Amino acid sequence: MASVSTPHFVIFPFMSQGHTIPLLNLARLLRHRHISFAIFTIPANSASIRDSLTNTGISIINLPFTEKLNSMSLFLSIANATKQMQPHFEQAIESLQSVSCIISDGFLTWTQQSAAKLGIPRLVFYGMSNYATTMSEIVVRERPHAKVSSDDEPFPVPDFPWLKLTRNDFEPPFSQVKPEGPLFEFVLEQYLALAWCVGPLCLAAEPLVSQTPQKQPWVQWLDTKVAKRESVLYVAFGSQADMSPEQLREIALGLEQAKVNFLWVLRSKGSEFWEGFEERVKDRGIIVKEWVDQLEILQHESINGFLSHCGWNSVVESISVGVPILALPLMAEQHLNARMLVEEIGIGLRLMPSNGSVRGFVKLEEVEKVARELMEGERGVAVRMKVKEVRKAACAAMKEGGSSSSMLNLLINEFGGPHP
Ligand code: UDP
Repeated sequence: MASVSTPHFVIFPFMSQGHTIPLLNLARLLRHRHISFAIFTIPANSASIRDSLTNTGISIINLPFTEKLNSMSLFLSIANATKQMQPHFEQAIESLQSVSCIISDGFLTWTQQSAAKLGIPRLVFYGMSNYATTMSEIVVRERPHAKVSSDDEPFPVPDFPWLKLTRNDFEPPFSQVKPEGPLFEFVLEQYLALAWCVGPLCLAAEPLVSQTPQKQPWVQWLDTKVAKRESVLYVAFGSQADMSPEQLREIALGLEQAKVNFLWVLRSKGSEFWEGFEERVKDRGIIVKEWVDQLEILQHESINGFLSHCGWNSVVESISVGVPILALPLMAEQHLNARMLVEEIGIGLRLMPSNGSVRGFVKLEEVEKVARELMEGERGVAVRMKVKEVRKAACAAMKEGGSSSSMLNLLINEFGGPHP
């Protein structure tokens, strides 16, 4: 356990990257305001959290837990297994004495019981957009999707007359007309408390600490594109999405035929089987197999589009640097995020499967056509202009006096003092 100096806030992220990164950004915002906090985590994540919060004096408290979330198929059993940490969590908080508020991930539902037991307020961190949260809540409450006869038939959304969704825009349990079972119960537990809107938290991010003074080779490659006044499509599908080898290959061929420049972060195996691919695209495209500083890449002058799975962090990161999105949602609430950014706010284009559904195989011709449209076409110009506008609004919200910054100050006033 690291040394602890009277932390007021306890921050406890769920162990996946997509849930940890935004809460570390929230921790940075608290640090800017001189508010003390302790971060609770598990041994496997402790070192990377310490590295990413470079300042000294951060309290990081490890709770014993050995499972690792590498695949979404294990999600529910791992989320439930986190309950094993409960006695250690409570003991550690009691030893801190001065905790005035616990901010923990919505997936760590049992921290609500701990907070109640210890008499400390708890705020749930819920890393989804308000759009996806609202739509999911409406389908559970009002069941508009009970009236259609197939998963791809559009239904109107109560209170949002301009919107049409399909069951396929949702994952179970939301796609089910009569949701039940362990996953549904897990989701219901999380909905108990939602309120304070703060963000986009990525605007508080700091660059990753590099092991070497030189720029990473892929950043140097991007620099060469700037020198030639060429723009690049950034391609990345988050930290845990599984895509079939056939779909990955189809995307590769589509990008090749679109003749756009691209930088693709692809840690999964596969590209080595696309015979001659890297050689054929070598002047235009590179594949990076390492963990990258995604924000650094998105901020690079050469990047003019982001082919993304629409994980919420990736979406807000793209918005906060003014880069339009080419949406290819895969799982979780990503289909709703794609609807929102393409149909509601107009900051991206979407790759559609060839089967007429929002889920299915996307063919190379679609990748070729829409990637080119985003990078060179008129619709690309329109969404690029719009995303710059949205970026301004996001930055204004996070500046002192902006809505998000003021909301965070209110939250600190409400929960940052000693609890009775
Ligand atoms: N990320 C990164 N480098 C990588 C891959 C991902 O920095 O090589 C970060 C990305 O910037 C984002 C997070 O990991 O903050 C992924 O979260 P997102 O919600 O986009 O997707 P998820 O991984 O949860 O599906």
